[in-house]
Amino acid sequence: MEIFTDHIKRLTQELSGLPGVGAKSARRLAFYIVNMPPEKVRSLSEAITEAKEKSRYCKKCFCLTDTELCPVCSDPKRDQSTIMVVEETGDMAAYERTGKYEGLYHVLHGAISPMTGVGPDDIKLKELMSRLSEEDIKEVIVATNSGLEGETTAMYISRLLKPVGVNVTRIASGVPVGGDLELVDEVTLLRALEGRVTL
Ligand code: ZN
Repeated sequence: MEIFTDHIKRLTQELSGLPGVGAKSARRLAFYIVNMPPEKVRSLSEAITEAKEKSRYCKKCFCLTDTELCPVCSDPKRDQSTIMVVEETGDMAAYERTGKYEGLYHVLHGAISPMTGVGPDDIKLKELMSRLSEEDIKEVIVATNSGLEGETTAMYISRLLKPVGVNVTRIASGVPVGGDLELVDEVTLLRALEGRVTL
């Protein structure tokens, strides 16, 4: 006999669509949520709705932020001649946590993946190119993840940028293969950044 109500089933279904949440965790979370005090549930759902409504892409680097220009792009003390290219806003956040990187960023929102049909036009590459023609950039550090897709993207960017005459470097392979940049510890991130090589 099915003992879950339609409402709990729906909540479980929604939660299981989130990355890293399997059917079992989704059920556990759903039960946890319906057992929470009503005001806590309201606060949680408001936080989700508000974060969604207030979030937008920085018009320069395309990271997720809630202002027209993100805090990095609007900080005049950052080194305006270096751009670090990352796959997601979370990767940028990871480098920001090290507190040692002084330059700017560019968030691609993905990586080239012939397997899943993600091509160069599906990520923010055109936007990177137009930044290079508008800003005085001396170095582009490619900090895409070290898996197959990240490497493919790095190669593509290097080929794309060679004719532009900008120095293209790639972070060292200290980042574990297939590793999500966001999950790598700060020491490893810094070592990868310091050991970067020209592509
Ligand atoms: Zn920005």
